[in-house]
Amino acid sequence: MPEIKKLLIANRGEIALRIHRACHEMGIKTVAVHSTADSDAMHVRLADEAICIGPPAAGESYLKIDRIIAAAEISGADAIHPGYGFLSENAKFAEIVEAHGIIFVGPKPEHIRTMGDKIEAKRTAGALGLPLVPGSDGAISDVEEAKLIAEAAGYPVIIKAASGGGGRGMKVVTNPADLEAQMLQAGSEAKAAFGDATVYLEKYLGNPRHIEVQVFGDGNGNAIHLGERDCSLQRRHQKVLEEAPSPVLSTEERNRIGGICAKAMADMGYRGAGTIEFLWENGEFYFIEMNTRLQVEHPVTEAITGLDLVREQIRVAEGHGLTLRQEDVEFRGHAIECRINAEDPRTFAPSPGLVKGYHAPGGMNVRVDSGLYAGYKVPPYYDSMIAKLIVWGHTREGALRRLRRALEEFVIDGMKTTIPLHQALLDDPEFQKGDYTIKWLEEWLARQDEA
Ligand code: ADP
Repeated sequence: MPEIKKLLIANRGEIALRIHRACHEMGIKTVAVHSTADSDAMHVRLADEAICIGPPAAGESYLKIDRIIAAAEISGADAIHPGYGFLSENAKFAEIVEAHGIIFVGPKPEHIRTMGDKIEAKRTAGALGLPLVPGSDGAISDVEEAKLIAEAAGYPVIIKAASGGGGRGMKVVTNPADLEAQMLQAGSEAKAAFGDATVYLEKYLGNPRHIEVQVFGDGNGNAIHLGERDCSLQRRHQKVLEEAPSPVLSTEERNRIGGICAKAMADMGYRGAGTIEFLWENGEFYFIEMNTRLQVEHPVTEAITGLDLVREQIRVAEGHGLTLRQEDVEFRGHAIECRINAEDPRTFAPSPGLVKGYHAPGGMNVRVDSGLYAGYKVPPYYDSMIAKLIVWGHTREGALRRLRRALEEFVIDGMKTTIPLHQALLDDPEFQKGDYTIKWLEEWLARQDEA
């Protein structure tokens, strides 16, 4: 079995630090690759080796496959972990890594490719027995045909880009007269954003929750699920706060949907960590997509299962079996994660800059994943997320109380952050009850603006 001795982290920010930490606990040396804007990043300082691979623009550094491979060869890394975002769901990258005899800490390239095309993903999911949103069986190009499909699914419908991501390029159509114009619009937007005009159509669910299932496969036909995360609190389709378990699922429902997902991954021969995303409405699950990578919100699953998902990814990549069998997976208590962004908490305008003072909360069952430190300058070129605060409690109420306490302690001086947004959310009775859907946060924000 190949043993990973040195791992290159093809990412930046908190996730690069997260991966570095797991590696060092496993006795694996790390290589950080970074842009010129990230020379002072915490993970670059902590890594055993660091190689600058280009200027700030991600297209010239973190997305440059040839430079990353060259860095791996120069440093003698025997594995690459892609983190999330950047090249993490790029099948070609995974293939190139493997063609160089380097272990890719992630799924098999063919599975990344299949799930990266949303139409192909939906077809595959359907064939594997996952419940789907009713809609077109594949791409739509003909307006008359689209009208028939929309009629059958029932309005409103949503037009989505096959190569879409990040919640972009979606159009909701409420009546047949608008369908043609919206189809054209969605297609040209998709072409501009993703270089692919292919679109498909599905029923638009009016007020669902976003519930996703964490899965893990060993690549040899064994797979488990690690329960769900509720990521319904979103703004512009971007997750803001996540929790596990979902406040609305019973143990039976969890085991049922988790079992379906685990079986699908076993049948597929899936390798490594994955997330199967569903919309959930009136007790029914509807598959929307699968992410073939580690998710930002993975720590809430770690908090309730006690499993280190990055360690597990690395072990699976080395060819070990899964650490746990399904019957060994136990769900304990409740965990909540707040994504803290360098943004104005009301306007969401980015607010990067110098961290003048920094104090992270601590204490029992409080975790902060962040590369911040006093004197660090948050660069303006990347995602605005600067920290994740994760708390665990025996109950949801306990977790909420701990979260309130931890947010009070958190000090990030020198820039605006979304900490006050999370504090205000905690005061809301509906949020406290777990009574929210994917629409709820935007409506809540609109009410805050009026007040
Ligand atoms: P992306 O890859 O761009 O994130 P997804 O398919 O995961 O796209 O959808 C992102 C978000 O868009 C979902 O979390 C949900 O808020 C909304 N959405 C997607 N499909 C539907 C649908 N059929 N009905 C209602 N909302 C949807």
